[in-house]
Amino acid sequence: MKLSHLGEFGLIERIRARAGQAPELRLGIGDDCAALQCPEGQLLLTTKDLLIEGVHFRLDWTDLKDLGRKSVSVNISDIAAMGGRPLDLYLGLGIPAGFTVEQIDRFMEGFAEAATGYGASLSGGDTCRSPGPLLISVTAHGAVAPEQLVRRSGAAPGDAICVSGTLGDSALALKALLAGEQPHALLADRHHNPDARPALGRALAEASVASAMIDISDGLAADLGHILDASGVGAVLDIPALPLSQPFFEALEKDPSVLQLALHGGEDYELLFTLRPDRLHQLEPLAKTLGLPLTRIGTLVRSEEGLRLRDARGRFSSAHPSGFNHFRA
Ligand code: ADP
Ligand code: MG
Repeated sequence: MKLSHLGEFGLIERIRARAGQAPELRLGIGDDCAALQCPEGQLLLTTKDLLIEGVHFRLDWTDLKDLGRKSVSVNISDIAAMGGRPLDLYLGLGIPAGFTVEQIDRFMEGFAEAATGYGASLSGGDTCRSPGPLLISVTAHGAVAPEQLVRRSGAAPGDAICVSGTLGDSALALKALLAGEQPHALLADRHHNPDARPALGRALAEASVASAMIDISDGLAADLGHILDASGVGAVLDIPALPLSQPFFEALEKDPSVLQLALHGGEDYELLFTLRPDRLHQLEPLAKTLGLPLTRIGTLVRSEEGLRLRDARGRFSSAHPSGFNHFRA
């Protein structure tokens, strides 16, 4: 069905049917603003991510339902990285000519499924025609008690560096897609349909375990670099400790250069966090409860030492905290 059959307001009505209702939401879609009750004594967290066709995704590679899910998860990932609990979402859509109602329905199906899964409602947004690509702009709100807010700046030399899940899967899938190949199903799923880790973020914040935290969107080295800059520390990463999935490991055995994807590939959406060594014993029970691997991958050192990698034979090399950068020459 053509979008012109519904018109802007018919389309918004259709979106509204999937909005959900967060307990804190006093007024959702339908007025000039949404009204949200910020939980008493907590800070309101706000984050936004843009997804642009041709920059972040290609419609010939991505199912619109996955895209709907991913546009939620990448935002919830930022809420998780601060130790927050997701509250609600705002969806800006720039829709190209020729897009159908069925395509929007499929996108919204994934969006609503993910939002419900994270316990967040869709509380508002804006809908326009795009003269070019599909444009998706999502804003997310979360809440956290002030003393539980986990920033990038709290890390100190001696802290252990830990990461959830596995690294490089999404980047390896993208590499296959760019080469015109079919990625391994697990890798493809990690690329198109990443899970955010709000339960982990909350647990680390609640128990005051993490000294600093960030979600990995631009690549391990780049995002660790943000913690190093903000905290004024350096780091040693243990290459053999990097958690890798089975298909990633198999690709690495065939081609050692694949390691670069675990270090510098983007869109893992895992949590990277630091903690004092006397807190390390808390990780294993937490990993068990969450059913999510939590792995120590290195140690923070003084800032003068920069970022260094240690290989299986104990040899050091220096690394650049480079990752994806939209405006790099
Ligand atoms: P205004 O012109 O006052 O900005 P709109 O007509 O754009 O209002 O939107 C009407 C209502 O629909 C508002 O509550 C707005 O938040 C909501 N809305 C519009 N587009 C979307 C969307 N893509 N997703 C969720 N809510 C939307
Ligand atoms: Mg508007």
